[in-house]
Amino acid sequence: QALVVAIDGPAGSGKSSVSKEVARRLGAAYLDTGAMYRAVTFAALESGLDLGDQEAIAEAVRQADIELSVTTEGQRVVVNGQEVSAQIREPRVSESVSAVATNLAVRENLVRRQRAAIEQAGRIVAEGRDTTTVVAPDADARILLTAREEVRMARRGLELNNTQSAQALAKQVSERDAKDSSVVNFTDAAEGVILVDSSDLDFEQTVQAVLATIHQ
Ligand code: C5P
Repeated sequence: QALVVAIDGPAGSGKSSVSKEVARRLGAAYLDTGAMYRAVTFAALESGLDLGDQEAIAEAVRQADIELSVTTEGQRVVVNGQEVSAQIREPRVSESVSAVATNLAVRENLVRRQRAAIEQAGRIVAEGRDTTTVVAPDADARILLTAREEVRMARRGLELNNTQSAQALAKQVSERDAKDSSVVNFTDAAEGVILVDSSDLDFEQTVQAVLATIHQ
């Protein structure tokens, strides 16, 4: 039956992997709203658009064709016919995504698409930074997944195990959070939103803690 679960949280809170697993266990669809912001950012960079040109970016987003699907290999993201599942995770996209996500016309367009996707799926876990407050404030379950800053940074370092020093990475993540928080407040739980702190929980415990808040 229909069930809408909204999960918000900052970078490194584990919201993507936890949300995906919660969706799988509930037999629900999964919507990664961040992937949509990343996809349109990638498309804008590819077209050589000036990310500071609010009107040009807004128009590119209105025109963008975005397809998200979950396959056995993971999430597949296609923008304007191009498969960009890996590219949207590249540092150049992570560095630029806030500039696009703080464009209010972009948010309006993507939020509308996200609501339509939720409506269409019926049974779905939607994850992002504003899903509990803006995209799906009427969701059956609304959860804010958090973790202490040092824990979030360490998790990013583990996830991205590349050549960047942990410190540079930590700086990047906190800069992105700071930029994003100028538009979306994802650090305090809004009224009716249940806070799940994963700092001292492993992955399975976090999934269980989230599932425990959902009356299925
Ligand atoms: O969740 P993820 O880190 O992939 O999100 C990438 C970026 O997309 C965030 O840093 C933020 O700028 C933007 N975003 C947003 N609202 C959402 C999801 C993501 O502004 N609901």
